[in-house]
Amino acid sequence: MIERTLKHIAKVLDASILNQPDDKNAGICGVSIDSRTVKPGNLYVPLKGARVDGHDFIAPAYTNGAAAALWAIDRIPYPNFIPLILVRDPLAAMQKLAKSYLSEIDPLTIGITGSNGKTSTKDMAASILSEKYPTIKTQGNHNNEIGLPLTIFDLEEDTKAAVLEMGMENYGEIDFLCSIAPLDIAAIVSIGSAHMENFGNRYNIAKAKCEIIHGLRKRGILIYDKDSKEIEEVLQDDPAPVSVRKISFSGKGNPDADLFVTSDISYRHDGIEFNADGILRNIFVPAAGRHQASNALCAIAIGQAAGLDENQILEGLSRTELTKMRSRLYPLKKGTILDDSYKSNPESAKAGIDTLMAIPANKHVAVLAGMLDLGENEKLLHEEVGKYAREKGVDLLYTYKTPGCFIADGFGNQAVKSDDKKELIETLRPLFDEKTAVLIKGSRAFKMDEIVNALLEEE
Ligand code: ATP
Ligand code: MG
Repeated sequence: MIERTLKHIAKVLDASILNQPDDKNAGICGVSIDSRTVKPGNLYVPLKGARVDGHDFIAPAYTNGAAAALWAIDRIPYPNFIPLILVRDPLAAMQKLAKSYLSEIDPLTIGITGSNGKTSTKDMAASILSEKYPTIKTQGNHNNEIGLPLTIFDLEEDTKAAVLEMGMENYGEIDFLCSIAPLDIAAIVSIGSAHMENFGNRYNIAKAKCEIIHGLRKRGILIYDKDSKEIEEVLQDDPAPVSVRKISFSGKGNPDADLFVTSDISYRHDGIEFNADGILRNIFVPAAGRHQASNALCAIAIGQAAGLDENQILEGLSRTELTKMRSRLYPLKKGTILDDSYKSNPESAKAGIDTLMAIPANKHVAVLAGMLDLGENEKLLHEEVGKYAREKGVDLLYTYKTPGCFIADGFGNQAVKSDDKKELIETLRPLFDEKTAVLIKGSRAFKMDEIVNALLEEE
């Protein structure tokens, strides 16, 4: 982590220091916004949330080792037990500090946006770039105006590449993230229907994502999904600056793209394999599902744009560790777990079943919890998923709690309903043998990852 003196930080923020530290040359190392996880030497940044205000937790932050804190100038009285930098708005100050740290270290900076696949592509691209450069990446899903600066504070003095996930729900948000982190490479992985209520149609969604193009530095590179036709429509209406090089990819095999899939996707118990034009060797990525081939092509294009050779790219890609709970495969000594416990809805539950069935195995098992927020058709939509599982050939189905139990009703007699996670885990354990694949999925509230973790403990 980067270490700077309090004086340096105050200068960057154009702000004054209250309660000067005993040792003015002592380094402040790292930033934390949570008093519970502050580490010794951190700068504590008190943010105002909907329910709590970080200023109220300055005492525990200090006890846990914070060396100094930012402090809103209008927040009186000022604590006297910890050095403070007085600022108008701690969040804005934190963003300004992140921008400054990034420009001081000046790594190759990659931004990834899109409707689906940002986190997966970010993990793949970072794994590839690590083959050549000391690389940092967004942890988990920290892709907004708070998460992006926090990611930047992970920089080390020798970091040479930063892979940043950029999320958005409205116009102007990507613009803002790029004002903190000007990009060398910008990637748009896909355009879907998420946040449709804010935009009305997919063209507008693409338009908002395309803000990332204007976040590119001179001679920047744009990588985009050729299969999301709205991106090129936006580019026609609002062309990228001529200095921007454009590289497109197509997971659906469109030969007009610079990189496109040229073979069937073959499924292994530990990932997918395919060929693509634009790269010589067979591509393997330890991820489940067809859409991951598209994400992998995007990550390969990022590797090429960053100057890596084919061996480095394919090696790095094959070593990718996807963020937990998002169609992540765990090839075990006995069987395979497909962990898709991050979220669930009727489309993604069916897609999860398709992916399960594509894993080579003798026995396919689905362990499903309910899908929340489906409104009045809740029961019917769950039953449909059960029917779908039956039609596709799932051998065994287990459901957890209500409304998940309605999936069992759609599947038929043999399905097992349970309200007890421990009991479910004990039932699943003996099922595992070399040729079993198990999908675990449900809405986040059901915490189905606990089942994944319990089964992994056995390994
Ligand atoms: P979020 O908006 O929650 O941050 P994300 O864009 O980071 O999502 P991921 O976490 O990589 O996306 O993937 C989430 C889910 O979206 C996956 O489990 C998969 O079902 C689906 N998905 C991933 N990539 C694609 C893609 N290229 N096209 C369509 N669906 C995808
Ligand atoms: Mg994400």
